[in-house]
Amino acid sequence: GAETSEVLVVRGLRKSFGGLRAVDGVDLDLAGARITGLIGPNGSGKTTLFNVIDGTVPSRDGTITVGGRRLERTGRPGRAHAGLARTYQLPRLFAGLTVVENLVVPERRFAFGRLWTKRVTAAERERALAVLDDLGLAAHADDSPAGLSYGQRKLVELAQVLWLDPVLVMLDEPAAGISPALSARLADLVRSLRRRGVGVLLVEHDLAFLSGLCEQVYVMSRGAIIAHGSVAEVSAEQAVVDAYLGD
Ligand code: ADP
Repeated sequence: GAETSEVLVVRGLRKSFGGLRAVDGVDLDLAGARITGLIGPNGSGKTTLFNVIDGTVPSRDGTITVGGRRLERTGRPGRAHAGLARTYQLPRLFAGLTVVENLVVPERRFAFGRLWTKRVTAAERERALAVLDDLGLAAHADDSPAGLSYGQRKLVELAQVLWLDPVLVMLDEPAAGISPALSARLADLVRSLRRRGVGVLLVEHDLAFLSGLCEQVYVMSRGAIIAHGSVAEVSAEQAVVDAYLGD
């Protein structure tokens, strides 16, 4: 049916913290060949929605379907293994591992639980170098991420996501705080994901970055989706203007 061609289908997702409805009945539909933006004022529930979709935060209400598989009862490791990858607002990298090890090693926690090792095989290294080369990071393959710039660390986190061969990539403010050159590289990379049929959902405040990239955006306010359409369409809606002015 129509739903199986979608990489992500969310229905009726809810999450409350005490009496606060951070995510209040959200529906989303993402096709594979599409880049989708998620925008909204601070505190509108974007990060919580990401956390509930990727399994970081549990939720009792709603369904999450990725690549035709129902995942709302699956834990975070299982969702990662099913191809649901995400990055964070602030890169979370292991300073004690090299850049190559940061790609290869963390995934083993998802695949093997506690039985993971740090050793990188020649084949893994070769594949990791190819991913890093696409991002202009090959020269830093054996460095610690601690010595890299903020923008480079964000790209390493993206490399971790690519390493997983994902079905769906969720990016939390990928362009925030990075140089225009890196941001252009990032936009190219997101487009190359779309060409490969990978679904992309990104939270981003930079509307110029979004409008050059996204076919559709969802606008959140107070835990709910209040508008959905192209950047131009939603920007023209009074409810969206009001939500931002009320921030
Ligand atoms: P956004 O990412 O759009 O800024 P968030 O998802 O971070 O919004 O927050 C949505 C609402 O949920 C806010 O009111 C925030 O204070 C609240 N919130 C987020 N996480 C927690 C938590 N762990 N405990 C309690 N309240 C939370």
